[in-house]
Amino acid sequence: MKIYLIPIGDVEKDTLLKLCWVLREKFEAVFEVGEPLSLLEDAYRPRRGQYFTTPILEELKQNIPEEADKVLGVLDMDIFVPALNFIFGQADLGGKVALISLTRLREEFYGNSKNEKLFLERVLTEAAHELGHTFGLRHCDNQKCVMRFSNDIRDTDIKGADFCEQCREKLEIKLR
Ligand SMILES: [Zn+2]
Ligand SMILES: [Zn+2]
Repeated sequence: MKIYLIPIGDVEKDTLLKLCWVLREKFEAVFEVGEPLSLLEDAYRPRRGQYFTTPILEELKQNIPEEADKVLGVLDMDIFVPALNFIFGQADLGGKVALISLTRLREEFYGNSKNEKLFLERVLTEAAHELGHTFGLRHCDNQKCVMRFSNDIRDTDIKGADFCEQCREKLEIKLR
């Protein structure tokens, strides 16, 4: 199993490398940082000041590296889908592509002082959540399961990056 992290637009290299490292343990898969994609400016919605993720996900799908089983796009812009004010990420359920945004995972976004450790935990949580969807996992009701839906950043902090027992079992079947 080989999973590529694809930076979309400007993304800190350091964050990608750290994410690669921690994801390796969680998914027992090979993670690599792939060639960056440029940010699709057509996806920008000036009135919302956000990027619409559906075309970006489509763009990722058109550019899957040959050796990749899954692709996780990482961008540092605020993102949305029409029914929601914002999203932390989006994925193709049971498919090959997913993406996350780093923007709302920083304490500075909420007017607090920088907390690098918390930021990286959140990045891992959202990455594991979206990748979980690509392995066919749906939202889970368990408050401490990474597959629980996050309405806001507090939900992300509460659930953490671990899969509950049931979700982990489903994931392991797919990883075998
Ligand atoms: Zn989800
Ligand atoms: Zn679960």
